[in-house]
Amino acid sequence: MQPKIDLDFDQQHLWHPYTSMIEPLPCYPVSHADGVYIHLETGEKLIDGMSSWWSVIHGYNHPVLNTALHNQVDQMSHVMFGGLTHEPAVSLAKKLVAMTPSQLTKVFLADSGSVSVEVALKMALQYWMSRNEPHRNKFLTIEHGYHGDTFGAMSVCDPQNSMHSLYAGVLPQHLFAKAPQSRFEEAFDQSDLDDFAAKIQENKNQIAAVILEPIVQGAGGMRIYHPEFLRGVKQLCEQYQVLLICDEIATGFGRTGKLFACEHARIEPDILCLGKAMTGGYLSLAATLCTNEVAEVISQGQAGVLMHGPTFMGNPLACAVANASLSLLIDSSWQEQVCFIESCLKSELQPLREVSTVADIRVLGAIGVVEMRHTVDVKAIQRRFVEAGVWIRPFGKLIYIMPPYVITQSELSQLCKAIRDIVVNLE
Ligand SMILES: *Cc1c(COP(=O)(O)O)cnc(C)c1O
Repeated sequence: MQPKIDLDFDQQHLWHPYTSMIEPLPCYPVSHADGVYIHLETGEKLIDGMSSWWSVIHGYNHPVLNTALHNQVDQMSHVMFGGLTHEPAVSLAKKLVAMTPSQLTKVFLADSGSVSVEVALKMALQYWMSRNEPHRNKFLTIEHGYHGDTFGAMSVCDPQNSMHSLYAGVLPQHLFAKAPQSRFEEAFDQSDLDDFAAKIQENKNQIAAVILEPIVQGAGGMRIYHPEFLRGVKQLCEQYQVLLICDEIATGFGRTGKLFACEHARIEPDILCLGKAMTGGYLSLAATLCTNEVAEVISQGQAGVLMHGPTFMGNPLACAVANASLSLLIDSSWQEQVCFIESCLKSELQPLREVSTVADIRVLGAIGVVEMRHTVDVKAIQRRFVEAGVWIRPFGKLIYIMPPYVITQSELSQLCKAIRDIVVNLE
């Protein structure tokens, strides 16, 4: 029997993501999780619609991932990565090089998604320093992006609807182009690229890199845009010799129906950030991959090295579980699963288009988004979802799900039914 979770202490002493320490929203105590179910201490069993923020693609408490961790812990849990190396890291790098777009060959292992973004930004800056163009120190991105919570990452998040407006005086100023309006499944409006093209052209000598989330913008608004926009961005980056950083921390590893979202546009970035689903949601691990060219230029520069090296770089436990997670993914029929989830989400969320309080429905791969016309009351709606036996955490106007790939038809239907029932009753 597990000891009861001290919720009073939690409320008084523990920060949760983006919360007040005076008036925190209630937290539900979890005793364990298994497959697609999160079990609350109070006895409820919730179907998980969030994959714990995009990461738990194979479900909780997976025997293969558990075994990988058990085996690794008996070998070593950690050794420093400076001057030492090990099999879990080497195997993982091999897998990443093999599965990502072909020009990405060099791998930096970071401890979280935000850190992998910091590393990507530093790679781009060092690339231009090494090429004796240090004035190229701005980043160009698009509005509604999200790249993490550390300072460098915050500085390229959407300036309006992210928390980084709070830090406006502290953050470096970068360049923001209008986000594309053309929807994934509809015709592409060429004028979507006008603002981006103007900004890259006007600032071509100051821009180190373009950074964006390919196809799906996650925490900045759950927007799903047309692949032609990404192709246009890639073309302009080539034309003005600007590096392209794709942040696939949310979209990577099959979530959008392709292994990596940049494949929808058949383009390759110079630098790629990965994280979230990489360890199947078991441990924090991320990676920044780059091309030979980027790595060589950095290494030939005055510094001669990439100036980054976290304490827990290449952590063997995290690498071991990532290896197991990626093998599971590659050996599974993930593409069929994601395709089935997509068609199920499309048909089951479709009826909500008729509801007056619903502004939009968007689906791509294993991602389903219901955008409301008004901000939802998270506390109230959260309770209703829990009562309906599902775990869904809305933010702003968005009620969205990205379930584990292993979810069954009936579990997915229950998730969607809960959304339909609750959204209809919000009117
Ligand atoms: C979650 C996320 C990050 C940040 O990753 P953390 O592991 O939370 O630091 C960065 N970029 C994108 C697109 C993300 O979805």
